[in-house]
Amino acid sequence: MTHMVSLMKKVISIEKLVKKYGKLAAVDGISFDVYQGEIFGLLGENGAGKTTTLEIIEGLRKPTSGKISILGHDIRHGIKDIKEQIGVQLQSSAYYNFLTLREILELFASFYSTQMDPLKLLQMVHLEEKSNSYVNSLSGGQKQRFSIVASLVNDPQIVFLDEPTTGLDPLARRNLWQVISDIKAKGKTIILTTHYMEEAEALCDRVAIMEKGKILTIGETHKLVGATHNPYRINFITKKINTNLFNEISKFGEIKNLIGKANNFELRLKTQKELNQVLPLIQQLDPEGLIVGRSTLEDLFIQLTGKTIGE
Ligand code: ATP
Repeated sequence: MTHMVSLMKKVISIEKLVKKYGKLAAVDGISFDVYQGEIFGLLGENGAGKTTTLEIIEGLRKPTSGKISILGHDIRHGIKDIKEQIGVQLQSSAYYNFLTLREILELFASFYSTQMDPLKLLQMVHLEEKSNSYVNSLSGGQKQRFSIVASLVNDPQIVFLDEPTTGLDPLARRNLWQVISDIKAKGKTIILTTHYMEEAEALCDRVAIMEKGKILTIGETHKLVGATHNPYRINFITKKINTNLFNEISKFGEIKNLIGKANNFELRLKTQKELNQVLPLIQQLDPEGLIVGRSTLEDLFIQLTGKTIGE
């Protein structure tokens, strides 16, 4: 419900943004808004234009055309005011190795009028014991955690995270999801890019899926996922290949063999009614495994971006 309330206030507004590199329109006339207190995800294949979009909003690249306003300031004129109120996660390789974690945070904070206590920041990501260590002595997950809190030194209202969990193991990734949720819980707005659909589905209130510089779809994550074709799925494993039963089952929806697994099948269905009707037929195949589920953001992503690959 808090999200509904926060929907009232736009913190970022983008109109007809274009970025050209020579003839290539890396960003091709996109418009969208980001609302206070939400986690907004920019998704898309490699080269879709996510990083370019993010870096233009952060003031790091100049747009070819279009209008961007952040917290009421037009970025063409108000970049100084904006910089005080945004935080940008840098790649961990961008940090000095002759300063300790604490010293880096102190240095970064000194550029701003509002400054967070470095030790409190390190505590937030359980790195307080590393406050006197150097970045190159940290593990991959610790570096990522550090680079996220380093974006909070000025207690910003808006935080930009570009692929915050890339290359991490599953547990470290979940730890970072917690860190990102904690930042949201402090009332901040977060814009992130990710290639992990599971991550976007877990974290993002809204997502935009980009392709070739354009937005294919944008909206509340759960609503977009709910509106996929054939939103119900049954996965089952059986060695009993009864042709008659398979024919009956395939009348309900699309049945596929999972890649590389001869006895694993997936059936996609449009309605819950079909789901209930087809389950007894599948049970007659003595399935060794049976999973009933709903579509995910990954299904939507493949449905949208896969379409143009096939064409
Ligand atoms: P990824 O998921 O791989 O990080 P992305 O969605 O972030 O991709 P961008 O990095 O924004 O994509 O790149 C969009 C397009 O613009 C790509 O075709 C890329 O090659 C091109 N591009 C990006 N930066 C430049 C640049 N400085 N000069 C020329 N072309 C660029």
